[in-house]
Formats: sequence, C-alpha cells, structure tokens
Amino acid sequence: MESAEIRRRWLRFFEERGHTVVPSASLIADDPTLLLVPAGMVPFKPYFLGEVKPPFKRATSVQKCVRTPDIEEVGKTTRHGTFFQMCGNFSFGDYFKEGAIRYAWDMLTSSVEDGGYGLEPDKLWITVYLDDDEAETIWREKIGVPAERIQRLGKKDNFWSMGVPGPCGPCSEINYDRGPEFGAEGGPAVNDERYVEIWNLVFMQYERGAGDGKEDFPILGDLPAQNIDTGLGLERLAMILQGVQNMYETDTLRVVIDKATELTGVQYGAAHGSDVSLRVVADHMRTSVMLIGDGVTPGNEGRGYVLRRIMRRAIRNMRLLGAPGPVVGELVDTVISTMGRQYPELETDRKRIETVALGEEASFNQTLKAGTAILETAVGDTRSAGSTVLSGDKAFQLHDTYGFPFDLTLEMAAEQGVSVDEDGFRRLMKEQRDRAKADARAKKTGHTDVTAYREVADRSGTTDFTGYASTLGEAS
Ligand code: ATP
Ligand code: MG
Ligand code: MG
Ligand code: MG
Repeated sequence: MESAEIRRRWLRFFEERGHTVVPSASLIADDPTLLLVPAGMVPFKPYFLGEVKPPFKRATSVQKCVRTPDIEEVGKTTRHGTFFQMCGNFSFGDYFKEGAIRYAWDMLTSSVEDGGYGLEPDKLWITVYLDDDEAETIWREKIGVPAERIQRLGKKDNFWSMGVPGPCGPCSEINYDRGPEFGAEGGPAVNDERYVEIWNLVFMQYERGAGDGKEDFPILGDLPAQNIDTGLGLERLAMILQGVQNMYETDTLRVVIDKATELTGVQYGAAHGSDVSLRVVADHMRTSVMLIGDGVTPGNEGRGYVLRRIMRRAIRNMRLLGAPGPVVGELVDTVISTMGRQYPELETDRKRIETVALGEEASFNQTLKAGTAILETAVGDTRSAGSTVLSGDKAFQLHDTYGFPFDLTLEMAAEQGVSVDEDGFRRLMKEQRDRAKADARAKKTGHTDVTAYREVADRSGTTDFTGYASTLGEAS
C-alpha cells in the first residue's frame, strides 16, 4: 500500500467515525516554546490545555513533523526520520480509553477491503503504563489480546505530559512484531527494533503540578474532561505494509535513495557504511525540502540553523559517497516529485524551493573548499606534535574565519582519529558572543563592521561570506 493511500485511508476511517479532518499545520510551530512541530497534537494544544474551546469534539489529521533530536538515529535504526508524518485522532472530552483502543485496533486489523490496513492481530504487542490496569483490562477483555502480549512500561515510555503544569496521563502503545530476522523475542519491552512501535495512544486524565520537568512531578487529581491524543507514524506503517526493511526504503524515500545511487554510482546494499549515508541523504533531503516548503531559509540561528545543518549533512554524505559535482538540484527535484503528490504546494513552489536549496549548496561548497584544506593541515600539525586532540583555538578559527560548521570539524577530525577540545571551542564562542554584545552596546547601531570579513574574502578569493554569516550567534 502506497504512502498516499495509507494517508487517505486514515483520514477516511476517522471521518466516517465523526472526526473533523484538519489539514496539517505548517512545520513552523505557532508556539513560542517550539521551533518546529514534533507531534500531531501541537496544533490542538490550546484545546488540551483548556485555553480555547475546541470547535469540534473529535478531530483527525496527518501532521508533518520534524524531530531534530532523532538526527543521530537516522539511517542507523530502521525507524527514525528527522521528518515524518504523524497520523492522529483526537477526542476533546468525548470518547476515552475504550473508544481510542477500539478505533486503533479496528483501523489496524480491519481488512483492506473494509477500509483498514489488514495487519495480522497476532503480530501486535501492546504496552501500557505501570499502574494502568484499566487500559490492560480493555485490551484483554474487550479486544481479546492475550495477556502475554501486553507489557508494562515506566514513565519514560508510557506516561505523557507537556513538561508544564496541566494535562498528563498514561499512554498505551501498539507495536508490530517484524519477526526473528530482527532479533530476539520478548516483546517491545526488550527489543524495540523487532517489535517496532507504531502507534501511541495518550490518555489525558490527570492534572499535574509544576514539579521537576518531564518526569518528576506531582499528580494533583483528575481532569474535569478527559481527552485523547494519538499518533501513528505513517512511515513506520508504510514500512510494514510495503514489506521493506526500514522506513527509508518506503515508496516516498526509496526514490530519493535511488537518485542518490544514480548520482554517486554507489549501489544500495553494497556496504553498511554507504547504506547509512544513502539513507541519511534521502531523509535529510526530504526534511530540507519540507522545511523550505514551509518557509524556513538556511541561516545560523533557530530554524534556519536546523535546516542548514540537515542540508549540509546530506550534501556531505553525498560527497562521502563520492558525488563529483552538484547534487542538490536533482535530489530536490526527486523529493518534490514524490512528496508533491501528498503536498501539491511543493509543486507550485518548486522554483523557489530549488533556488533556496541551490543557494545553500553553493555557499556550503565555498565553505568546504576553504575549510577542508585548513582542517587537514591542522590535523596533520596536531599529529606531528604527538597529540590526538585538535585545539579549541583551531576549531574556533575554522568556524569563525571560514564558516566551517563545528559538527563537521568534529566529524572530519574523528574520521582521522583525532578528537577536538570541545570545552575550549565553546569557551571561545562564548567570549566572542560577549564581545559582540559589548560592541553592539558601544556602537548603538544595528550595523556590523564587515571590514574584517572583507579581508578574509580577499585572502580566500571568491568566498561567499559564509564565514561572516556563520559568526552571528551560532550556538554550537
Ligand atoms: P521511538 O520510541 O521509536 O523513538 P517515540 O516514542 O519517540 O518513538 P512518540 O512520541 O510516541 O514516538 O510518537 C508517536 C509515533 O510517531 C510513534 O509511535 C512512531 O510511530 C512515530 N515516530 C516517532 N518518532 C519518529 C521518527 N523520528 N521517525 C518516524 N516516525 C516516528
Ligand atoms: Mg523517540
Ligand atoms: Mg517510544
Ligand atoms: Mg512513543
């Protein structure tokens, strides 16, 4: 079943059951506490918090999501993307645990002819929160899941709160057993690659107090109205329904892997290292297109930096794979052609998305050209001095003068068996920020003296002033 069909079915199933279909919100969160939308419930947050009265009792959506904290997992686990789509159904004081559990079960196990996804019930494993006997009883007695396929998990996995006083509650998750080829048996509590988590059902039933962040807080009592928030990963379900090994091989991402293969001549499946790179390229290029599509432009702060980092990581992996020339144009084109079926605005906006992406590739190439040579010399010098730690000074100079991303310095140094004095680098970054602040106060104007950067440009030829841009408040 194609991704587009998974999405259509989802919305139809819940619409037929009285849910209002709400289009995906932009990735740029309309929420001062978030840079980007990481979950389907974000656009509904004011309803859950009781700040705004919801215009409906039930809603459903397929929300575009970006989770940068998952970046290191991409391509290495089988199931983490920086971009993914979360299918959700939501109840605002309407149905609760039993309703949510029954819908989820019916959606997954109803036959394809009946509008479901046709999963085999025996392959589904359930987790519930430690003390949530109510949920377990529903699964066992109302749905008929045998007790041995229900496991209990703690707060980290199966209890939800927003990190602030307000609604919270236990979750129950549905996991799919992909079989012995993915490792040992024992259920999701012991093997999360074999028993892959596909759907999280959150039961908002308590009110939490301030406490200490996400995990340690007092429960003040029951909420006046109980809510449901669920999220199913579209790519994870696609991976199962399409019978592929990981989410990067599902229809909308596989074509990007194939394009990267064509551009580099490296076959997918040839070696673990190059496979990881190809998967990173597919994931990151898609995320870049979706971010640019929603209006993010590459920069050195906030969302712009998220985009820059992800896009540069994709380009760099293409280089590691041996791509000789520019790659972004064709990769962006491929992503738009496949994602455009579900997001037609990408097609309409093709020209602008390409222009932004190509500009970033050009600017990164300039940066790389200047920086790589210097890094190599620095690593050589470090070695000849009998050390395996590149100084914070050198890393800072690369970043400050040449706009060479710090994470790239770390990565490239590590490839040559050298680490970097990160503390030293961060100290210099802080000193520079403090100086910049003092400067700005002294000048009392918003203008920056660019002469220093001009000298750099003169020295290194046609540099595109990425060094200039990269010195402005980059955090890492
Ligand atoms: P995991 O434990 O696998 O990291 P999670 O518990 O962090 O997932 P939730 O926050 O419960 O995920 O999100 C709901 C659903 O969204 C998950 O069950 C999964 O199907 C999907 N999902 C979460 N993170 C990702 C990701 N990085 N890439 C693809 N799908 C994801
Ligand atoms: Mg996670
Ligand atoms: Mg989880
Ligand atoms: Mg989860």
